[in-house]
Formats: sequence, structure tokens, C-alpha cells
Amino acid sequence: MKRTELINNYIDFFKEKGHKEIKNSSLIPENDPTVLFTTAGMQPLIPFLLGQKHPQGKKLVGIQRCLRTKDIEKVGDTYHHTMFEMIGNWSLGDYWKKEAIEMTFEFLTKKLNIPVEKLAATCFRGDKRTGKDIESEKVLLSLGIPKEKIAFLVKDNFWGPAGETGPCGPNTEIFYWKPKDISVPEKFDPEDERWVELGNNVLMEFNKNKEGKYEPLDKKNIDFGGGLERFVCALNNSTDNYEADMWKPVIQQIEKLSNKKYEDNKKEMRIIADHIKAACFIINDGITPSNTEQGYVLRRLIRRAIRFGKKIEIEKFTKKIAEPIFKIYKDYNLNKEIILEELEKEEKKFNKTLEKGLKIFNKMSKNKKIDGKIAFLLFQSYGFPIEITQELAKEKRIAINLEEYQRELEKHQELSRTATIGKFKSGLADNCEATTRLHTAAHLLLQAIKEILKKTEITQKGSNINAERLRFDFTFDRKLTEEEKQNIENLVNKKIKEAIPIIREEMPLEEAKKRGACGTFEDKYGDKVSVYTIGNFSKEICTGPHVNNTKELGKFKIIKEESSSSGVRRIKAILN
Ligand code: ATP
Ligand code: MG
Repeated sequence: MKRTELINNYIDFFKEKGHKEIKNSSLIPENDPTVLFTTAGMQPLIPFLLGQKHPQGKKLVGIQRCLRTKDIEKVGDTYHHTMFEMIGNWSLGDYWKKEAIEMTFEFLTKKLNIPVEKLAATCFRGDKRTGKDIESEKVLLSLGIPKEKIAFLVKDNFWGPAGETGPCGPNTEIFYWKPKDISVPEKFDPEDERWVELGNNVLMEFNKNKEGKYEPLDKKNIDFGGGLERFVCALNNSTDNYEADMWKPVIQQIEKLSNKKYEDNKKEMRIIADHIKAACFIINDGITPSNTEQGYVLRRLIRRAIRFGKKIEIEKFTKKIAEPIFKIYKDYNLNKEIILEELEKEEKKFNKTLEKGLKIFNKMSKNKKIDGKIAFLLFQSYGFPIEITQELAKEKRIAINLEEYQRELEKHQELSRTATIGKFKSGLADNCEATTRLHTAAHLLLQAIKEILKKTEITQKGSNINAERLRFDFTFDRKLTEEEKQNIENLVNKKIKEAIPIIREEMPLEEAKKRGACGTFEDKYGDKVSVYTIGNFSKEICTGPHVNNTKELGKFKIIKEESSSSGVRRIKAILN
């Protein structure tokens, strides 16, 4: 089976069951700046899983590109990738457990003809949050999964909440027996890696409240996520994802360039293919290599691929590996020009210092220890992401003083340690109150800017919000005066004091435009859009979330105004 066949099969199957297809969103979360990347299909849906009405209805299906930095180190095995595609179906307060599990199994065994004997499942064993999930077990048994193939676990079988509070619940995973020539064991062992997880139904039935109690939800959600590459691999009776059509041409290109066989260099070739593919997608979603946030992950991936390229003796290769990727993912219409340009620039940059950096590393490693100052020197002057230095040290079995490195880094960067760690850790959205309040403040800010600068054609050029501050870019061609800044701030604070309720309405995009709503007009969720109105002051198309009343915002303060790029200004602001 091919990638596109599986996609069509999946989408068709769920459309026939009344689901509406949603779009594949960017790898860079648009409404959730608390995480670096989209890590699951449900992530762009968080506001809707939290109760907001989705314009396309209660049953949704879609394919979502995902990126998981936590899996970078697993890459090299047969089934973990940094960037992969997740197939997903959702019930927003519509069908529940029984139907969800039945549909998943119907898709697997009837539509895809996977023998039920090759499948196994996990269910939630129960703890103080909620009891053992015998309901799911009952459904599984009725579908022909015997008791010995159902494992009850705790750790990987409860999802959420995304933030401190919110919807969450147990989940039930489906596993597939991969080996072709070894018969399926009678009993399922979740620790045995020959069983691979294909997908997971999250059964969101609780709301975790502020007191930490799990209350039953009125509106229960289903969130199914499955690994596209793993499905295709299973359907090809293969044990290695890299043999499937979304990987093979990339591996073949590496074989050709290196004049070496995949058979003998699996780990290196998988890492190179994986990292360059992920890099292509990150660049395509608007990121360029840098030393912070997404740009840093991108840099790290490209540079790690280059280092592994050295091991199989290839250089100046990243562009050539991108070529088959453009062909495989024709449907994404990847931006070749920019991707090739960025790959080449980054490769050239790293090639200038890689050799010298390695020499320094090798010399220093004779002491059996790499001190933090050297690790920092390698980072600062030779462009070695710390993760690469760590990996080099691990290969040589020597220690590295990370605390000292961190101290050196902090001396040179404003980026605080906690901020970095926090961002990389969670992987899921923290829809906390602070970010919600800043979202609403951004709407007030845009309108205030337009009024004070007396220019209605000003548009927003992106925003970035975390729990501490709001960063807001807009089109304007000069520096603001002190007076203008003060007036903007005053106007926002005036609107906050007026205690205006925020009204959300759904309407067709055309109607929203007619009513003068501003916002990005690409029809991201199909026909209908959500429009947020703040009195007669502001009207914007947005997916939210927002507070209910402006009085919840507190005091608004602009802390910085600067140029962002040509013709674009940037404001940083906080709420006290
Ligand atoms: P695993 O334990 O196998 O790493 P997971 O528990 O992290 O998977 P989920 O978070 O439940 O996975 O994601 C849903 C599905 O997405 C998984 O069942 C799997 O098929 C797929 N998936 C998850 N991580 C990856 C990855 N790094 N590469 C490819 N597919 C993945
Ligand atoms: Mg899982």
C-alpha cells in the first residue's frame, strides 16, 4: 500500500460515517505559542475539545503533519520519526467509546483487511483518578480480541489535561504484531517491541477542576490518532517503515550518493533521511535556522544530519536528499526554492566550522571530560548544538559538564533556562488563563493601533503569546512616538475598564467579511468561521480561546516597540 492510498481509504471511510474533513495545519501552532510544534492531530483542535463549537460540526477527520522533538533520539529504529503524519478522527460530544472503538476496528479489519489475530490492545487499569476501563474491554472482547491480548496499564493510558485543568480521560491503544515469519504469540506483551502501536483512542470523559478533582464531563470527546507510516508499513507486511513509499526513495538517494548499502548503514541513513525530511517541512512552514526556539530545532536537525553524513562519507548532500521528498509529498506543494536555499546556506555555514570543532573536541576529550566552557565554545564559535556535543561525548563515553555549559550560555543569552526547558518538556498546550487573556488583549491592541495611528488598513502580521507576554507584529512603516504608544495603551485600558462582553458567533466566511471582521481570510476550517466581537470596538475572525469580558484582563502595558522587518513593527506587551 502507498501513503496516498491509506490517506484516501481513511478519509473516505470516516466521511461515509458522517465525518467532515478538516485541513492539515501548520507544524507551527497558530493559536498556541506555549509549544514549539504541533505534536498531534488533536493539537489544533484544543479550543474545540475544550467546548467551543467547531464550524464543521461534531464529527471530524483529517491528516495532520506532526513533529516531536522528544523522539529525535529514537530515530534510527524502524518506527519513530521526527516528522510524521497522524491520521485522526474526532467526536466533539457526539459518539462515544463503543462506537469509536468499533469504527477503529472496522477500519482496520474490514477496510484494510488486517487479520484481527495480529491485533492487541491496552486499556486503563484504574487509579485514584478513575476506575478500571472494563467498558472498553467489553467492546474489544466483542470485536474478537481475546482477554490475553488486552493489557491493563496506567502510565501511557491516561491523557491530559492539556493544561492545569480541562478535559482528559483514559485511552485505549491498538498494537500490531510485525514479524512476518514468527507466529503471533498467544499473549500480548506491551514491552515486546515486535508489537508496534498503530493508534490510540483517547476517551475524554472528565474535566479536571481547580481542586484537582476529576468531574464527569457533560460533553464527552473522542480523539483518535494513528501513525500513517506505521499503518502503511503494516499493510505492506514489512517490519521497517523505511521500506514504505514515503521513505524508500529518500533512502535510495542516500545509497546512491554514498555508494553504500542501506543494509550496512541503517541507523545513519535513517537519521539523515528523517532529519532532512523534518527540516524540509519546518522550513516550508516558515522557519529558518537560528539559535532560538523552532529555528534552533531546525538547525539541530540539519547539523545532526550533516554529522551523520560524515560517517557515511557524504558531503554537500542536503539539497539532493530534499529532491525525492518534494516528489513524495506532492500534495503539500512544498516551497522548493526556499527549502533548497535554506538547506544549502545552513550546510555551508556548518561545513566551515565542523572540521575545526571536531578537532577541538577530540583534543579535549583526551582529558576524559569536556568542561562546560569548551562545550559553550563549540556552540558559540563552531556552531555545535549542545545536543551534538553531548552525543559525541556519549560515543566516546566521556562526561560533559552541562551545568557549567548552562551557566556560560546564560551569561551570553537572555533566554532563561526555565523558559527553554518548559517549552521542550510539555509537548502539549497549556491553555492557561494568562495566555487566554493575552489573546483577547491582542484583539484590543490591533483596533487601538488602527484608531490611534488613524490607519484602518493596518493588518496584523502574526503574534506570539506565552504566559508572560504578548508579541504583536503589524504593518506600519515608522517608529511610533512616545505619545502614540501611550495613547494606544490608554485606549486598550479604557476598553478593559468598560467591561465589554466578548461575543462569539459562527457564520460563513463571506458573511464575516461583509460585517467587516478582520483576520486571516484563508478558509482554514472550511466554510464557517468564528467571529469574536468586542462591543462596537473590535470584530475579528479567530479560533480563540478568549475571556468572556474585557474586565478580566487587568492592566495592559506596552513594554517595547521596535522594527520587526521592513514595513512591519513589533510591540511587546504584558498584562498586570
Ligand atoms: P510510541 O509509544 O510508539 O512512541 P506514542 O504513545 O508516543 O507512541 P501517541 O502519542 O499515542 O504515540 O500518538 C498516536 C500515534 O501516532 C501512535 O499510535 C503512533 O502510531 C504514532 N506516532 C507517535 N509517535 C510517532 C513517531 N515519533 N513516529 C511515527 N509515528 C508516531
Ligand atoms: Mg500512546
